[in-house]
Amino acid sequence: MAKVKLIEVTRKFNNVTAIEDITFEVPDGEFWVLVGPSGCGKSTILRTIAGLESVTSGAVYIGDDLVNHLPPRQRDVAMVFQNYALYPHKTVAENLAFGLQMRKVASTTIRERVEKVARSLDIFHLLDRKPKQLSGGQQQRVALGRAIAREPKVFLLDEPLSNLDAQLRDDTRAELKQLHQKVGVTTIYVTHDQIEAMTLADKIIVLNRGIIQQIGEPQEIYARPNNKMVATFLGNPPMNILPGIYVGDGFKIGEQILGCPSFVRDTLKLTQGQGLDLGIRPEYIEVIEPQRRRERREEIGGGELFVDVKVIEPLGRETLVRVSLSGLDLQMEVLTPGNWRGRVGDRISVQLDLNHLFIFDPVIGNTLY
Ligand code: ATP
Repeated sequence: MAKVKLIEVTRKFNNVTAIEDITFEVPDGEFWVLVGPSGCGKSTILRTIAGLESVTSGAVYIGDDLVNHLPPRQRDVAMVFQNYALYPHKTVAENLAFGLQMRKVASTTIRERVEKVARSLDIFHLLDRKPKQLSGGQQQRVALGRAIAREPKVFLLDEPLSNLDAQLRDDTRAELKQLHQKVGVTTIYVTHDQIEAMTLADKIIVLNRGIIQQIGEPQEIYARPNNKMVATFLGNPPMNILPGIYVGDGFKIGEQILGCPSFVRDTLKLTQGQGLDLGIRPEYIEVIEPQRRRERREEIGGGELFVDVKVIEPLGRETLVRVSLSGLDLQMEVLTPGNWRGRVGDRISVQLDLNHLFIFDPVIGNTLY
């Protein structure tokens, strides 16, 4: 096992800068996830660690060794791709053993390792089958097993679950997590799926346009995003962003005024007429039933907005309601209990929990509050 360290790594392809000034250190044995939208540079980072891509500038360390100029096979890393290519004519056992045979590992050791890995991934009963006799999920587990059997210092996984259907994806994700807890190999995992990132990671690196936006534990990034991109990328349904104008006591949002909490006013030096982006997660918006509005007047305070119901999406335990605000060309998402009985076209009152309000600079996007 080994730590992985990148210092100011940049990779350019002619005039395209795929990644820029990437610096981070994954401690020995941890599971880190690189996440971000398509084209943000996730795979390029992984490939520079694997040695499949050279760096334009900067340093890559595995353990204490600078590996910039080492070819992939000398880096002792195992990479699993989305399109895991298994050898079609070899059995599962032979696929698992192949990398070890190439390394001239003793045959008794190979047999032991193959069996151990096959048991831990629940593919022991499949050892004699050929890949085409396996389901997609089973094939994916063989591909993971092949990487694990090599006992590399570092695992690099590039969207390894993206070919699986939803149920299998959830199951394999949970297996991966348990496996890491058992094996404890330093792992760097690439995904554009924020749920995978949140559930698997010791730490998440959020990337956008080749630049690191934030590094932190999942909950920390979720609760304290550095900027609007991170705030809206992590969380499902995503954080709502409402353009507002500061008007003294509150923010003008479309044709309505949302109260500005005193703790925000005391912290930020806002000026009248200043444009801001306000952020609120759907779970911090509550639909106020008309009959309860009067009794809740006090607590509703300045957080109330009137909205029009546009789309209702029952999710089972909860219902996702998309609403519009008059004077604004956008929709806001609100989570209500599953038994909520509203209708499309209703005008309803919603209460924003202002203790969970974010404020972003509307131009640069950085978090102001
Ligand atoms: P995805 O989630 O779509 O796989 P990604 O985040 O993994 O995307 P990369 O594949 O690392 O992104 O690509 C980052 C940027 O570098 C993109 O703009 C891509 O077009 C560019 N890029 C990657 N490889 C090359 C290459 N060999 N030649 C030219 N440009 C490249």
